[in-house]
Amino acid sequence: MKVAVIGGGPAGCTAAYKLCKAGHEVHLFEAQDHVGGRTSQVQKEGFNLGSGALFLMGGIYPRTNAVIKELGKYDELVGWDAKTHIIDADGKRYTVDFDQVLSFLKMPVFNWGDRIRIAWGVLKQLLSKGAGDCFDGEKLAKFDDESDTLEAWSERVLGKKGTNYITYPYMGFLYAVPLHWLSMSMFKTIIQQFYKLALAVPPKGMGQISDWLVEGSTGLSLHLSSPVEAIARQGQGYRVTANGQSVDVDKIVVSCEPGVAAKLLRGLIPAESETKLKECLYSEYAHVQVCYKKNPWPDSPVSVALPATKLRDWGACVLQSRRHPDAVPPGGEAVGVYFYTPPLSNMSDDEIRAEAVSAVTEVFGKAPDPDFVELFRYRRGLSIASPGHYRTLNSLHAEMPEGICLAGDYFAHAGVEAAVLSGERAANTLMGKPS
Ligand SMILES: Cc1cc2nc3c(=O)[nH]c(=O)nc-3n(C[C@H](O)[C@H](O)[C@H](O)COP(=O)(O)OP(=O)(O)OC[C@H]3O[C@@H](n4cnc5c(N)ncnc54)[C@H](O)[C@@H]3O)c2cc1C
Repeated sequence: MKVAVIGGGPAGCTAAYKLCKAGHEVHLFEAQDHVGGRTSQVQKEGFNLGSGALFLMGGIYPRTNAVIKELGKYDELVGWDAKTHIIDADGKRYTVDFDQVLSFLKMPVFNWGDRIRIAWGVLKQLLSKGAGDCFDGEKLAKFDDESDTLEAWSERVLGKKGTNYITYPYMGFLYAVPLHWLSMSMFKTIIQQFYKLALAVPPKGMGQISDWLVEGSTGLSLHLSSPVEAIARQGQGYRVTANGQSVDVDKIVVSCEPGVAAKLLRGLIPAESETKLKECLYSEYAHVQVCYKKNPWPDSPVSVALPATKLRDWGACVLQSRRHPDAVPPGGEAVGVYFYTPPLSNMSDDEIRAEAVSAVTEVFGKAPDPDFVELFRYRRGLSIASPGHYRTLNSLHAEMPEGICLAGDYFAHAGVEAAVLSGERAANTLMGKPS
């Protein structure tokens, strides 16, 4: 079978890897001059900056772990302890471990009544039925109650304080949008799997996952700087055109963002499916890497700071050298300041950069002027799972024409695990294998 994979982020690279492994002829088309999509690394003045994704989340990333193990790279992953300060509205700080949810309960803001309420809420959750997989949109759809938002659910089950000091810091870091924009389905599932959380990063950063997948794809034809312009029917199969050149294939995985997929598939899929792809929600997103060739805080007791209660303009500050040492040149440091979405629409690039520099010194202490400040700003940054999202998006799979499968994190919500799972599923469907 000859297959075109359109889009070389983690979803497309996984699909290409699985198809090559099964002996199929695969052409992977990527618009950029490198694979990795929103996990790509950017090299500048000795720094290896992540343009997007920061970490893998241990046992709640089972498909990603399995693929990395298959590639023989699992032992290379670098663990990250993510010691964290939760910063109160009045500047008070509490130390927690980001990947150990129970450590949040030790914060003195909680009295015994709060702790019992939260523990009881969590216990009830553990004993109730759930999706069982935080990144499987098909499973999450079954627990996505369209009348409930994460904010309403969290206040009801964890209480106001639990919401302010646990749900806000977590989801402010992971998704950076107001809690009432989100379905509660994923957070409930994280609670059920909290004991599996652990953070890790490939030694060269998250972009290395796609590089590993491509290296492991024997026989792959990789077309970089090749944005696909058109897909048309050709005999029993399809003709894919990029850079004015066409390749005829039997089947296709479309693994680019849903708006682009909608354009490429116009006329091949029902108008209703095109609308679902076009209307898939994304948040505006920005993060800034504030870079120092000489580390101003080599002894910082924590590597992450998250605001509690009401989010500030930023949702997280992260010391990159602690996340994976290769991120910075020897003796250097970079701080990633990850912005909360709502204020961005009124902020210029310069305002975002200036606010990032002032957040860094507020959080980690005095520092000389940074050597440089790099802004990554996305008009469509993270796919957002609002109530009802999972059901709407996952109904698309059944609406695709013979020989075309969609892949991408947006079937669940942003996350490398969602992308890998969707890429693997698309490859299996094209090969007629059960997922
Ligand atoms: C700031 C930020 C922080 C994040 N943090 C994390 C994290 O810590 N952990 C985590 O797991 N996830 C994180 N994510 C999410 C993660 O990056 C995504 O879930 C993942 O990259 C999605 O993979 P994908 O393959 O579905 O899409 P993408 O990575 O977006 O890849 C799509 C690819 O398609 C290509 N493309 C588009 N149009 C065409 C065309 N016409 N022809 C050919 N190619 C095309 C694009 O260039 C791109 O390479 C983060 C994302 C951002 C932005």
